[in-house]
Amino acid sequence: MAVEPLVLDGKLVASEIKESLKSRVAALKEKGITPCLATVLVGDDPSSATYVKMKGNACAKIGMESRRIHLPKETTTEELLDVIGELNDDSSVHGILLQHPVPHHIDERAAFEAISIEKDVDGVTSLGFGQNSLGFGEYPSCTPAAIMSIIDYYGVSLEGKHAVVVGRSPILGKPVSMMLLNRNATVTTCHSYTENLPDLLATADIVVAAVGKPNFIQGEWVKEGAVILDAGYNKGNVGDIDYDACYEKASAITPVPGGVGPVTISMLLKQTVESAEKDARILQNS
Ligand code: NAP
Repeated sequence: MAVEPLVLDGKLVASEIKESLKSRVAALKEKGITPCLATVLVGDDPSSATYVKMKGNACAKIGMESRRIHLPKETTTEELLDVIGELNDDSSVHGILLQHPVPHHIDERAAFEAISIEKDVDGVTSLGFGQNSLGFGEYPSCTPAAIMSIIDYYGVSLEGKHAVVVGRSPILGKPVSMMLLNRNATVTTCHSYTENLPDLLATADIVVAAVGKPNFIQGEWVKEGAVILDAGYNKGNVGDIDYDACYEKASAITPVPGGVGPVTISMLLKQTVESAEKDARILQNS
């Protein structure tokens, strides 16, 4: 019988990160600073509203504040940029999260770019992406950072390994590819034009699924013993890999739910706390 794979428990990783943040939040509060994440939601997409609520609840659980800005779906790009500008100028706000996706008529890239680099705790600006790609940025994109945290928590070796990332979105596939490359993996980034995906996956020591298609990565495509990280989250709590079939082949695998998702939220909290700590240091030295 094949050896059961190690299930990479994102809930465990997330709870340890959140636990360690509680004392940091308390220390900041003693200095009169309460870390605050502002979330901006445009429109009435129910999933987006749920994600924003989850993030607000997660802040409250560790003693942080969150400020929820809910704008109507008719909001123009200019109006959204004004709201982001106000949050940039508000010294009681340490991090800004613009919930993706925004309604189609809004220039989402322009809105992301309007977030000041100091408050880009979700790692969505091109400056943040560029800095992190070069290996010195402060706040990486949260889901890629979550994937790297799981890798580190479980001591997955990256050096010289072939990592195949399926997906190249600005918030997920591209940044995680750069992070893996910076950690000396040999990285192949795949997308909808990739012609020989199963052949590439057959040589992957590490698989990152970031496709947005339920059960997309087939068990027969992956190599025996691969480490499989599923960032996907689709309707019905289903990831981007065919979990049961991939489980049979993997040496380690993230479940959905309970894998990358919970760690993503804890990364957002961690980066907001870091931003508040930076403010505290600036105040102390002024
Ligand atoms: P996205 O922007 O839609 O990007 C999907 C990527 O998959 C694109 O690069 C696309 O290629 C590629 N793709 C589509 N079909 C493909 C195919 N047949 N073969 C190979 N590549 C293909 O999605 P995303 O925002 O990166 O999200 C990806 C998944 O992660 C979704 O399930 C989403 O719900 C989940 N997610 C989870 C979290 C979390 O916290 N766990 C956070 C964010 C997203 P092209 O570039 O050529 O179109």
